[in-house]
Parts: sequence; C-alpha cells; structure tokens
Amino acid sequence: MGVLEGKVAVVTGGNAGIGLAIARAYHAEGARVFAVGRRQEELDKAEAELGPQVTGIRCDVGRLDELDALYATVAEQAGRIDVLVANAGIGIAAPLGEITEEQFDAMFNTNVKGSLFTVQKAMPLLSPGASIILTGSTAATRPQWVLPVYGATKAAIRNLARGLAHGAKAGQYRINTLSPGGVRTQGLIDLLPPEHLAAAAATIPVGRLAEPEEIATAAVFLASDASSYVNGTDFAVDGGFAQI
Ligand code: NDP
Repeated sequence: MGVLEGKVAVVTGGNAGIGLAIARAYHAEGARVFAVGRRQEELDKAEAELGPQVTGIRCDVGRLDELDALYATVAEQAGRIDVLVANAGIGIAAPLGEITEEQFDAMFNTNVKGSLFTVQKAMPLLSPGASIILTGSTAATRPQWVLPVYGATKAAIRNLARGLAHGAKAGQYRINTLSPGGVRTQGLIDLLPPEHLAAAAATIPVGRLAEPEEIATAAVFLASDASSYVNGTDFAVDGGFAQI
C-alpha cells in the first residue's frame, strides 16, 4: 500500500517539470491527484499517462476567479483536500537594469499572489491536519544577480509559509516550503543559457543539477504522515548548494 493511499492531493504546476514529477509520485503512492496548469494539452497528456486517478484542471493561479472554479471542481469530485502543493511558478532572468514592470508583476502575481490565494481559497476544503507545501527555491537565500526579482518572490514564499504555520489553529494544517536548487526542467532550461547552467552545476556540492524525481521524493515525505511533526520549515533539496 502506498504512503498516500486514500489521500486527495492538488498540485499546481502539475502538468510539467517538478509538479508533474510530484503528481506522478503521488499517484504511484496511491493518491487521487488534481494536476493544475494553464496549458490544456499538457494537462491532457498527464491525464492520459497517469489514468483515472489523476484529473487535469486548467487554472491560472494568479486569477482568483479561476481558483474558485478549480476548487469548485475539486469539491464536487473529491469533497476535500489532504495535500496541497502550491508549486506553479515562473522565473524571468533579468538583472536590475533590464527588469520591466510587466516582468516584475508577472513573477509576483504567479509566485506570491498565486501561492497565497491557492492556499486561502483551499481552506474550506482542507481536511484536519492537511499538508500544504509551497515550492520555494535556494534563490530565496542564495540570490543570483540575474534573478533578483525571482529570488525576492521565493523569499516572500518562504516567509509566507512561516507566517501561515504560525497562524494555524492546533491541528488545522501544517505547511512547509520545499526548496529545490537547480532542477533539470524545461523551465530552468528556458531560463538560463547552457553555459550559465553548466556553471551553476559546478557550484553544487553533489556536482550536478537535480532530476525532478529527486524533488518529488521529498514532496512525498512532506505530504505523508511520516512528516507529521514537520511544520513551518524550509526543506531544502539542493545537493548542498545553499547549505554551505
Ligand atoms: P516549469 O516551467 O517546468 O513548470 C512550471 C509549471 O508551473 C508548469 O506546470 C506551468 O504550467 C505552471 N504554471 C506557471 N504559471 C502558472 C500559472 N499562472 N497558473 C497555473 N500554473 C502555472 O518549471 P519547474 O518545474 O522548473 O518549476 C516548478 C516550481 O519549482 C516553480 O515554482 C519554480 O520556481 C520552482 N523551482 C524550480 C527550480 C528549477 O531549477 N527548475 C529550482 C527551484 C525552484 P502552465 O505553463 O501550463 O501554466
């Protein structure tokens, strides 16, 4: 029996990269999974690959009306949420002199506003003791000159998780950030030129980028009852990058 047998999980950004790896891992551990993203084609692919226990739902997490519609569907189909992974996020590489207002707003809208309202709008559906995971990043504590705003959004997410952990009623939910370092996803490959990626990998103590599945195993732990006393923390899976 899987460690998430019988649990209902919502994973935003669940149709690509790290989120898709988490959706796969949750499915393999027995969860009923709702994978969320904007690209319908990628949602359809995830559904086709993983079968009837996985439902793809189109939703832009930066839009409150779309979050309402998302949770109305989850309520109708599953009635509750045991595991919520607010993982949808975007990064735009632009140093101080190049960053535009539009890029700034896009990153804060998806990463920070999106994470907050993904959690807030889920509240009525959360089962007691539900596990909430926000995807952070080592960029929160090891900011890169080419990603100053992205790093600021991830620092905000980390702070948000701590505040929400502090604000929970006893046993209501637990919430943690899961902070990857460099992970080999299309998102990262689109973000940084190959020479920058190679240079980044060389600075990681384990000597390479992570595969999305290596982040998903930590997401399984944080979702499962095995982590029942882990709360308000930042769980790094970064090959040691931000730890030394
Ligand atoms: P990808 O670009 O591969 O995937 C991003 C996911 O987020 C997609 O599923 C995308 O789906 C979804 N998404 C983006 N914007 C929205 C939105 N407004 N509403 C709903 N879904 C959205 O990125 P990664 O898998 O690499 O990143 C996933 C998370 O991990 C992000 O939060 C990222 O910041 C974080 N992270 C990644 C690292 C890395 O090295 N890859 C390192 C540290 C953190 P769609 O386009 O269909 O909307």
